Amino acid sequence: MTFGEVETLFHEFGHGLQHMLTQVDYPGAAGINNVEWDAVELPSQFMENWCYDRATLFGMAQHYQTGAPLPEEYYQKLLAARHYMSGSAMLRQLHFATVDLELHHRYQPEGAETPEQVRDRLAQTTTILPPLPTDNFLCAFGHIFAGGYAAGYYSYKWAEVLSADAFAAFEEVGLENETAVVETGQRFRDTVLALGGSQHPLTVFKAFRGREPQTEPLLRHSGLVAAS
Ligand SMILES: [Zn+2]
Repeated sequence: MTFGEVETLFHEFGHGLQHMLTQVDYPGAAGINNVEWDAVELPSQFMENWCYDRATLFGMAQHYQTGAPLPEEYYQKLLAARHYMSGSAMLRQLHFATVDLELHHRYQPEGAETPEQVRDRLAQTTTILPPLPTDNFLCAFGHIFAGGYAAGYYSYKWAEVLSADAFAAFEEVGLENETAVVETGQRFRDTVLALGGSQHPLTVFKAFRGREPQTEPLLRHSGLVAAS
């Protein structure tokens, strides 16, 4: 399997865990059911983080014929590739999300701006190069007009905030500290994985994390702030 395939496997397994470990007896709120859209990718994207954890990766990454472990230099490359162009990728999603929210939440058809002008205004702070005058991006932004993501595109980035902050709980106790990881994992299981859509996602998150979500872990995982 390629590293990308392993990441996908961990991702989908996270969705599976939420279903398999649910403690909710009502199908309508068990597992992923009834979980608000902007929190459904929390368990899945959380699991992706383990692919970059040394002990987890080296525990399974072996040559398929010789059994030789993954060479250290490749592991270092995987870590470096994770940050490649991450600022641009972050900005791209923030641009899409703010355009979506502005158009679906605040836009007044009889107001002074056309949708294109709204997009150009937001581009001033969320793109490196201003859109070309011939740019018809909005006409092709199917997610928010035909794809069911109207006023919901931000959920991609928000789920990353939640999943990175959840993983940071494990980093804080020390990924090498087996006892503490087991304890934290049990708490993750009892809250995020068990409660499904039976409670508000923020309530569930706070039950696990002891506080509201913070953005610092995502910025750190993206290489956009220095690791403390
Ligand atoms: Zn998913």
